[in-house]
Amino acid sequence: MIATIYIEESIQQHPRTLQICSRFSRARKIICHRYTEIFNPKAQNFRLQKQQPALILAEKHNHFIHRAPAGYGIGGDRNYYFSHMLNCLYDCRYCFLQGMLQSANYILFVNYDDFVQEIESISRENTGQQLHFFSGYDCDSLALEPVTGFAAHFLPAFARLANAWLELRTKSTQIRSLMDIPVIPRCIVAFSFTPEATATALEHKAPGVQRRIEAMFRLQQQGWLLGLRFDPIIYQVGYQQQYRQLFEAIFSKIDVQRLHSVSLGVFRLPENYFRKIHRLYPREKLFSGPLQNTSGVVSYTDNLEREMMHNCREMLLQYIPDSIFFPCQL
Ligand code: SF4
Repeated sequence: MIATIYIEESIQQHPRTLQICSRFSRARKIICHRYTEIFNPKAQNFRLQKQQPALILAEKHNHFIHRAPAGYGIGGDRNYYFSHMLNCLYDCRYCFLQGMLQSANYILFVNYDDFVQEIESISRENTGQQLHFFSGYDCDSLALEPVTGFAAHFLPAFARLANAWLELRTKSTQIRSLMDIPVIPRCIVAFSFTPEATATALEHKAPGVQRRIEAMFRLQQQGWLLGLRFDPIIYQVGYQQQYRQLFEAIFSKIDVQRLHSVSLGVFRLPENYFRKIHRLYPREKLFSGPLQNTSGVVSYTDNLEREMMHNCREMLLQYIPDSIFFPCQL
């Protein structure tokens, strides 16, 4: 799966580096000074690289944890996000990473303990407040879990913090590291969905809708708290019927009582990301409308956006209480 691994010289002997390299013993290993030499040059072709991304093992030196944008949240007092990894195993055509990053290679920051230290320090500074930490902002939280051991490392850390919640955002069925440990009460395993037809057309390499529902079911049986993320909602003729079927499939299997939150947001991209992705996939139907550019953000026309949010909200509220519903305000 991984044919080339770039390794920053300073972390050649890091235990996580050694462990990952031993897993891919036949991969070509190339030592570099900083990951930016490989990752940042312009004129790389994201679409071509996506066919066989290299793995870059690097060290992050600062800015481990960021405040989440206003309007992003699921009921916490303060919201943060962090990225132990950039880029994703999957290849969703609507993914903003294709527009934001120069390269499709995976970067993994191996110094997890530095992230944890900053999370602990934020937790100490904000006792009495419920803090939500979102992973899976610049990657899928679980898709590469057998390689990265991300959840296995971070979950015990969160278990020790009384006011810190971790959201694992995923489309993956890689749940073994959760099934093998006692449930962490302040972890939300949040699954992203679009209807079956959209997922098949746009979410390349990601597990299908039914497999995700099965993974959710198994986690819920074990006692894990779940989230549902319908973001982005994607327009297609007959989208109401498709979303109705999706909600029926999910809620016929998932117990709403053990659901932490449900969020909903329409497709939107910063204009420069949109242009770049459109250049990569000029024939993609998703980008042919009905879209508008409002102050540098490309999204559906106002009327359509309002209609989609309204219709999906009404359908969802037939299954869930309003108290766990969080429309994305970005
Ligand atoms: S799963 Fe998320 S991060 Fe991965 S390609 Fe799809 S949208 Fe992007």
